[in-house]
Amino acid sequence: MQALTNRVKVLEQKPMTLLERMYLPNIAKGMAITFGHMFKKRPTINYPEQKRPFSPVFRGLHILNRDEEGKERCTACGLCAVACPAEAITMEAAERKTDEEHLYREEKYAARYEINMLRCIFCGLCEEACPKDAIYLTETFAPANYTRQSFIYGKPDLLIPDPKTQPDAFAQAQGKLEAHKANMKAKNEQ
Ligand code: SF4
Ligand code: SF4
Repeated sequence: MQALTNRVKVLEQKPMTLLERMYLPNIAKGMAITFGHMFKKRPTINYPEQKRPFSPVFRGLHILNRDEEGKERCTACGLCAVACPAEAITMEAAERKTDEEHLYREEKYAARYEINMLRCIFCGLCEEACPKDAIYLTETFAPANYTRQSFIYGKPDLLIPDPKTQPDAFAQAQGKLEAHKANMKAKNEQ
């Protein structure tokens, strides 16, 4: 049958030589590689005492960002969910009430926002798609756990600390964000 792509390559199988049929040279070659590795420096490290440095463009757990006044930046536009190739993000939008202006920047906000970390492939497309500077990937891992449910991160897990109630934690999270942004900018300029 004619292949659709027409890229089929027919290979000829050559008969083995006497040396190849004896297998001994190849066994000796394999053993030489094995013994060679025994004297090399081991690539394993004693985690958690020793930690491997991250790549400058490492992408880990997500955070939902706030502005300097502590208002949530996310406006539940859904662009991150649409951009996500793993369909890991779900959200429910709600309308801001007049007495909630100190909580949310825009008239619409995410009443529920969830990321399934078991689906996520940490590609960073959600971060790139967000027009509100609201979602970032950090240098933190999702900790190991025993249940699938515990890998579904909701808003309480994702939102960075409020600068009014936890100014130090907010500054620390912002500092990491700035470093992350600088790294991504440097990467894009390469
Ligand atoms: S990092 Fe990629 S896979 Fe993970 S939630 Fe964002 S877009 Fe989806
Ligand atoms: S995180 Fe950004 S892209 Fe996603 S819903 Fe919120 S504002 Fe839209």
